[in-house]
Amino acid sequence: MKVAVIGGGISGLSSAFLIKKILPQSEIHLFEKSKFPGGTIKTVEKDGFLIECGPNGFLSGKFSTLEIARLCGANAKLVEANKDAEIRYILKNGKLVKLPDSPPAFFLSPILSLRGKIEILKEPFVKPLKDDYEETVAEFGKRRLGQEAVDYMLDPMVSGVFAGNVNKLSLKQCFPRIYQLEREYGSLVKAMLKLKSKKASPSGRLTSFENGMAFLTDKLVGSGSFKFFGSVKVKSVEKKGDKFLLNGESTEYDAVLFAIPSYAYKDIDFPEKAKVIDGLLSIKYPPMAIVSFAVKKNMPEGFGFLIPSKEKRKILGALFPSNIFFKRAPDGLGLLTVMLGGDNRYEIRDMEKGEIIDLAVKEVADILSLSGDKIDLVYFFKTDRAIPQYYRGHGKIVEGMERIGKSVKGLFFTGNAFYGIGVNDCTARAFAVARKITEFLKGKYA
Ligand SMILES: Cc1cc2nc3c(=O)[nH]c(=O)nc-3n(C[C@H](O)[C@H](O)[C@H](O)COP(=O)(O)OP(=O)(O)OC[C@H]3O[C@@H](n4cnc5c(N)ncnc54)[C@H](O)[C@@H]3O)c2cc1C
Repeated sequence: MKVAVIGGGISGLSSAFLIKKILPQSEIHLFEKSKFPGGTIKTVEKDGFLIECGPNGFLSGKFSTLEIARLCGANAKLVEANKDAEIRYILKNGKLVKLPDSPPAFFLSPILSLRGKIEILKEPFVKPLKDDYEETVAEFGKRRLGQEAVDYMLDPMVSGVFAGNVNKLSLKQCFPRIYQLEREYGSLVKAMLKLKSKKASPSGRLTSFENGMAFLTDKLVGSGSFKFFGSVKVKSVEKKGDKFLLNGESTEYDAVLFAIPSYAYKDIDFPEKAKVIDGLLSIKYPPMAIVSFAVKKNMPEGFGFLIPSKEKRKILGALFPSNIFFKRAPDGLGLLTVMLGGDNRYEIRDMEKGEIIDLAVKEVADILSLSGDKIDLVYFFKTDRAIPQYYRGHGKIVEGMERIGKSVKGLFFTGNAFYGIGVNDCTARAFAVARKITEFLKGKYA
């Protein structure tokens, strides 16, 4: 029983690992275009700093990533975010405002005006949407919480998670839990109160590994559960009887799992491609730059800050990783990471490295009142395509992929283009798709 997995990001790696775990007699080959595994997960060690160019971590409230870490032995190095890092900021009228962490703190906070707060108090009385109209996050927020909450709460949230545009992303596709809460409880406030009384903790703490997120992907490769073929770009998947051939080579696979970004399907021939390729290529991946600085003095406290679009700044926000996790910076120095780009700022795709760094220094020094000579560049990272944006109609693209999966027996799909962009979403999907593949194989060889 042979399975080919295409794509060595967390989606492909964790799926390959789990297929072997469920069906030890299977043989899995994973093909990755780059030399190294990890995809978006990229941890860099430089001058005593530990820098994340992709995800900083995942939330411990969901089980899938923690369980994969346990199964592959990466759990010994798990680290949780420091308690002090729970303080987060939003920029309002040029000043950093603490994000309130409880209802009383919210009503005392300057994050919204009195009028904005009254709009929130009216939320339990807003009728849930009955028809099937697919709202953007902004439309949903305006209807239930008012425009000010959209501008100063939802806009930065969308920016922090998707580097996205609140007026374009689909609430149902991007935040299915929030969409569901309105349907189940009729109101977000009512849902919050009910869930609090049940002591349900949906999110948990930000969690990573002592040596950063790449520790997990390296552990998965090192587990020996599958053969990792780096620097192999798959260009064709061809059906031959009830088997598949990759790149015209002779090895026959019973099943193929695609775990690549949606734009990468353009360069691969695969069965029924014509039915889905337009949808796949319509998914936008805005660029992002991650610029990491050493801070010599006055490292600000907390987790970091996000900037609402209304503030008209040129950066998305910044994180303070050396406050979040221990051992991210040498003694006496702090690590500050500035994020730029996203769906509202495509121009960074065409900007030179020096221009982006200058912009990051200027903005962050102004916002944090740090003088420019107190911050030194440690590492610069830019990607032309960062996070897939789930606009309205995204569900139809996913349905199209699932139809191919049903009609071409043995083809399976996963990845952050379809089933959620969080690391937890990718690993939750890995459990589901690994089960489907192993059931398919068992059925085939029964
Ligand atoms: C800057 C940034 C910060 C983030 N922060 C967080 C965070 O804090 N928490 C969180 O939960 N999530 C975060 N995310 C999201 C999360 O990291 C990603 O959604 C997730 O890592 C995607 O994994 P994936 O395996 O689905 O895709 P990818 O990581 O994109 O992997 C796909 C792989 O397929 C390979 N590939 C493409 N074409 C081919 C081909 N033809 N043949 C072979 N291989 C191919 C690529 O080289 C790539 O390695 C962040 C994302 C970014 C960009």
